[in-house]
Amino acid sequence: MKTAFILSASLAIHAAIVANESEIESLDRAIGDGDHYINMKRGTETVAGMYNELLPLPADEALNKIGIKLLSTIGGASGPLFASFFMGMAKVIKQNDGNNPLEIAAAFAAGVQNIMQRGKADLGEKTMLDVLIPVSTTFTLSAAESKNMAEICSAIKLAADSGLESTRNLIATKGRAAGLGERAIGHLDAGAKSCQVMVYAVCDLLIKGKN
Ligand code: ADP
Ligand code: MG
Repeated sequence: MKTAFILSASLAIHAAIVANESEIESLDRAIGDGDHYINMKRGTETVAGMYNELLPLPADEALNKIGIKLLSTIGGASGPLFASFFMGMAKVIKQNDGNNPLEIAAAFAAGVQNIMQRGKADLGEKTMLDVLIPVSTTFTLSAAESKNMAEICSAIKLAADSGLESTRNLIATKGRAAGLGERAIGHLDAGAKSCQVMVYAVCDLLIKGKN
């Protein structure tokens, strides 16, 4: 994995989060406390602003620095979770370099595992993990089938869409919406929406071949 790709992805992610402001904001207002968009904007803006500092670094160091920075910038429940994602990815990229889809999928899976451990959450709890876990599984399976990046990305996008949609009829058992019981039913989870948006942004870059 090249640091230049991580940085292009961070710019694309920032633009995509900003483009989806109203939906992300209103979802967290409906069943959270309304700050998720602000948290995501602050975090993605900060990473985008680290461009020149990160460019000379090896990919694993860049990912780790992003994680450390996000710990102190995103805030809320999601800050430490996204931070642990990047730190988990960094560990695997340090070992395998992330030179092919299978290696990148392994790093992504380690990031998702870190989120699960940090947040003590799993699939079906109406969180970002309802997008990230199926995306990770799909990524690993389609990479193992030696599909090309465009094929892998279209499978990943479908997994992100259905994962997001799956949160609509769930009761939340983690995060702020957990206190709402059945009143959370009918609403998508804001963190799941941000993750779907970010997954799309990175996939679109990969499809264009800028990796
Ligand atoms: P806060 O909940 O502190 O206001 P944010 O609004 O930034 O923080 O983030 C809320 C999102 O974080 C939720 O929509 C959900 O996707 C995610 N989330 C909350 N708790 C957890 C957890 N334990 N594990 C995974 N994701 C979580
Ligand atoms: Mg919130």
